[in-house]
Amino acid sequence: MSAVPLRNDKPATHGVRKVTVLGATGSIGDSTMDLLRASPERYQVEALTANSNVEGLAKLAIEFNARFAAVADPAKLGELRAALDGTGIACGAGEQAVIEAAARPSDWVMAAVAGAAGLKPALAAVDRGATVALANKECLVCAGEFFMERAAAANACILPADSEHNALFQALASGNRDELTKVIITASGGPFRTWAAADIEQATLAQALKHPNWSMGQKITIDSASMMNKGLEVIEASWLFALTPDEIEVVVHPQSIIHGMVEFSDRSVVAQLGAPDMRIPIAHCLGWPERIIGRAAPLDLTKIGQLTFEAPDFVRFPGLRLAYDALRAGNGATTVYNAANEIAVAAFVKEQIRFGAIARLVEETLNSWIRSGNLAPLSSADEAIAVDHKARNLAASLLPQIAAKAS
Ligand code: NDP
Repeated sequence: MSAVPLRNDKPATHGVRKVTVLGATGSIGDSTMDLLRASPERYQVEALTANSNVEGLAKLAIEFNARFAAVADPAKLGELRAALDGTGIACGAGEQAVIEAAARPSDWVMAAVAGAAGLKPALAAVDRGATVALANKECLVCAGEFFMERAAAANACILPADSEHNALFQALASGNRDELTKVIITASGGPFRTWAAADIEQATLAQALKHPNWSMGQKITIDSASMMNKGLEVIEASWLFALTPDEIEVVVHPQSIIHGMVEFSDRSVVAQLGAPDMRIPIAHCLGWPERIIGRAAPLDLTKIGQLTFEAPDFVRFPGLRLAYDALRAGNGATTVYNAANEIAVAAFVKEQIRFGAIARLVEETLNSWIRSGNLAPLSSADEAIAVDHKARNLAASLLPQIAAKAS
């Protein structure tokens, strides 16, 4: 049985819901806290976490009267203790404290830590059978098969919080899983949608951070510009909904109004629409199986005027092609894809490599990994994390030659 509920057949929950937000100080965290703030009578905050932003975390913990606050950076414990002094809010620091936050009893968990660091905390929530709104796509990209198996075994409920997957989740409810023929994930195309390959190669950080529609964290914004984010989402969709790569299509839709579509056997295509505002999919996860009152602006299609669609360009955006290659290779290749991309993006931010070299580093890392005979099934979080670390080291070792090579 899938851990993603494909029907709204769960009884509605009444009364106060205990919630935990992992990555509370980030962009998804901010949208989640905004929704919680709107209905304080419905939610009690159990735990909140951050990486190093003690000030932001303490402010939220005090505002929402959280029971526990955790910061991943162990050196920040003293600072967090001082900021929460006299409030009665318990706190901790280090990776274990973030895992503890996820493991504490709450009904609903937002998993919105950035990067592969989110895997263990999300698993801690999954293992106690919680309802987990999953924004952290790296959990699925790094350890998808294993993550979904653990969720099903623990009877956890995984609600897709990423906008495209939430759209698919909503559209899927209008048919049976075995009637699905394919899913379509939309992509805005990012800031370089119409740019020539030579210009994309030289793009600056400031240009990559100018997303046309969405306001998001830095890493995901850069991934949107390279379309690596769409690649990560293809992999994410594959694990969430048990889809083969051939059942997942990407369509560029610059207005970002339709987020995802499902085609059924009778050729009906069911789409979910909404303004590009993460509070919409998060509100769907927060309310599920009911609908709550949203905070995003209503959609006015007459103002938008046109919805347009284009095929993705796998040549100018090789990151998307590489995601399909990694998904087909399986056996940890998607973990390598993600790890190499994280190294490449960090190097681009530090101006060590050009924008165009991000995909080259990912491709070279994947090829080298496969050539060395490293592909093997992953059966635990530790195995996934070991592959992630090894792939990061490999990508870092390949970085100088990629940086030196002109396109
Ligand atoms: P941000 O960078 O804005 O926020 C990340 C959050 O995770 C912050 O609270 C940060 O703390 C915390 N964090 C970072 N590193 C660690 C770590 N090593 N250990 C524990 N906590 C950590 O990211 P986003 O909110 O943009 O994205 C979060 C996740 O959601 C990502 O996986 C992303 O792909 C996914 N997502 C995001 C979307 C968006 O619109 N932003 C859309 C769909 C999915 P601190 O503030 O202290 O650094």
